[in-house]
Order: sequence, then structure tokens, then C-alpha cells
Amino acid sequence: MSEPADATQTPLTTTSLPDATGHFGTFGGRFVPETLVAALDELTAEYEKAQADPTFHEELDGLLADFCGRETPLYFAEQWTKKLGGAKIYLKREDLLHTGAHKINNALGQILLAKRLGKKRIIAETGAGQHGVATASVAARFGMECIVYMGEVDMDRQHLNVVRMNLMGAEVCAVTAGQRTLKEAVNEALRDWVTNVRTTHYILGSALGPHPYPMMVRDFHRVIGKEARQQIQEIEGKLPDMLVACVGGGSNAIGLFHPFLEDKDVKMVGVEAGGHGVEKEGDHAARFQGGKLGVLQGTKTWLLADDQGQIELTHSVSAGLDYAAVGPEHAFLQDEGRVDYTFATDDETLDAFKELSSVEGIIPALESSHALAYVKKVAPTMSPDQVIVVNLSGRGDKDVEQAAKYLL
Ligand SMILES: *Cc1c(COP(=O)(O)O)cnc(C)c1O
Repeated sequence: MSEPADATQTPLTTTSLPDATGHFGTFGGRFVPETLVAALDELTAEYEKAQADPTFHEELDGLLADFCGRETPLYFAEQWTKKLGGAKIYLKREDLLHTGAHKINNALGQILLAKRLGKKRIIAETGAGQHGVATASVAARFGMECIVYMGEVDMDRQHLNVVRMNLMGAEVCAVTAGQRTLKEAVNEALRDWVTNVRTTHYILGSALGPHPYPMMVRDFHRVIGKEARQQIQEIEGKLPDMLVACVGGGSNAIGLFHPFLEDKDVKMVGVEAGGHGVEKEGDHAARFQGGKLGVLQGTKTWLLADDQGQIELTHSVSAGLDYAAVGPEHAFLQDEGRVDYTFATDDETLDAFKELSSVEGIIPALESSHALAYVKKVAPTMSPDQVIVVNLSGRGDKDVEQAAKYLL
């Protein structure tokens, strides 16, 4: 194996993708109303300038450290490893970050861009509320007006996060269209942006949407993989055999995977929401199991749609994975055979949620528990000298009430 590069030396973007038009192979791109093209061009240009500006990185790194709590530990889950009796399992502890999940890495990066662009009004969409909370937090920190679009159903399910956003000064705008969940919230945010694009920056919450979002969101989360790469080499003296992460839009997964993509011996597995099982439409959100190629909310990717191209209903026990489309770079990596995509059902997920809580004393987010469910299956089939790094994308405080309904 070649000598791995020092993680601190890797620039934010190491591979050549996406291309100048925002495509990862045939996936990605920019399918938006004309009024947004200029704003997306402006954002792309400012992002490139910021990348080349040391003061931008200084401010970002400083706040990632002191405001958010980076670097996050890479924790050897010794008890769980013993229990499963196979590969050594390490948890990348994004659950310890400020506001409770990886989402703040991206929200912080984007608000610094908004500041550079002179925009004073921030909008965001949110499903479970984690991205809304992260955005409300950074908007408060920078004294910006913040409006978060959230489906009415999600506002009910995630009331605590609505209160958190309000406390930090954000206005939570109830979306009453359609299924009243994440997809409709994104539509509403895009509509707002079209109307107010001169004063407003849209902090999109996953590696989705029109170019440059999938690239930019990925780059702000690459810190996860860069740290993990250095940490595992310090601890184990080698690279991991396998990386595992859950995949909603795909931001925490691409953040972990991307700095390892050139390491051919590192296997990578993305875990989607299998819900009640992937056989029946409407029962799950596993886009790589029976999804179709199509365009949703600005990007070309795999999505769950019927034969007429109408977006199907989705289901998952975790609101954060309950979305009909997957980030375009994941579609590309699946096509290339570089990353494997599988799923965990609600039952398997709840089982893993309970097991990590009781064995390690760490309550994981239900989203992250999908990744843990796969680890629970695969670790016992591997040998004790092999190493798995799994991304613990968030903490489960927000989920305990819902989990209690199933488990207690
Ligand atoms: C939002 C969220 C996810 C899903 O989003 P990705 O963009 O796929 O990472 C996963 N885990 C947690 C804890 C989340 O809050």
C-alpha cells in the first residue's frame, strides 16, 4: 500500500468531480428556474474564491474547533466489538458536535459564504429539525435573520426541535402542502429563494440540489473523513478495512467516504432506510433498491417514482432518511462500483439503537442506527484484525420518545 498523505495537508477538494457543469458522470447538474441560475453562479464563484482564501479557512477552522467542538473523537467501541466477536469497531463521534449531529459542519461553512456574499437573510429546509437547528444556531451567532421551512407533520413529530429553533431566534414556517414533510419543505424554500434571491442565502442541508450544493456540502463535511483517516492511522497504524455510514441525502456518508476514495483497499458501504421492507413502494426510502433515474429538486439522480415519474411516498422510522432522492455523487459512486449500498429495516435499526445504548452507553440517532444495524450484521463475519469505522452521525436525544413507543 502506498504511503497515505498527511490528512492535514489534503486540500478540501481532491478529486476532479464534479465537472464544471456540476456533473458526476451522468448525475447531478442544475435543473432550476432561470431566476436562480445567476445566484448559483455567484455562489459557485464565491465558494471558489473562499477556498483559495486562507482567512476563510482560518475562521472556519477556528469556529469548527471552538463553537462546534471539533475534532470529534474516533472511539473504539470495545464492549460492542467483544459482543459481536469479529472486526474491531470504531465510532466517529459526530454525535458529540454542537447541536447534536454532523449538520453544523455544513451550516457553518455556508453561513460564512453568506457573509462574504453580503446576504443578511438565511433560509433553510428541515425534516427532523436537525438541519434547522444547526442553521438557526449559526444564524444567531452571525446575527442574521433565519426562516426555516418545515412540514406540518414533522413539526408535530419533532416539536422539541421547533422550540430549539425558536429559542435561537429563527422563524419556523409550517408547510402544509402534499405529504407535509421534507420534500414539500424544500419546494417552499426554493420558492422563497426565487422571490428573495438578492438578499437571501439558502443553506441547503444535504449533498443534494443543484450545483454547487452537492460539491460544496460534501467539501464542508470532508473534515469527518480527513480526521478519521488520520486518527485511525495513529491508533491502528493502518487504514480501515471498511467504512459504514447511513445515507439520507448522503452528506455524512460522502463526508466520511470522500477522503478515502483513492484508497482502493478500503471498502465502503452506504446504508439506506429499508422501512417496513423494500418490496413494496411507499414502505421505505431505499432509492438504490428499485429506484429510477430522474430529476428532483434541481439534480439528476436515483429517486423513488412511479412509471409516470410521480414521486412516491416514502417511509422510515427516522425522519432524517425519509426522502425520495439520493445525492448525485452517491449515484455516481454506485454506478462506478466504488461504494456498495444496502439498507436496514426499521426493526433492525431499532434493535441496533437499543444495543449500542445498552452496551456502550451511547444513544445514537435513529438515522445513524441504520449504519450500526449493518455493522451488527457484517462485523461478526470479519476477523478480529480487521477494522470498521462507522459514522455516528448524530445523537439520539431527539429520538428517545419515538423509540420508547416501539421498545418499552
Ligand atoms: C440529517 C441526518 C442524517 C441524514 O442526512 P445525510 O445528508 O444523509 O447525512 C443522518 N444522520 C443524522 C444524525 C442526521 O441528523
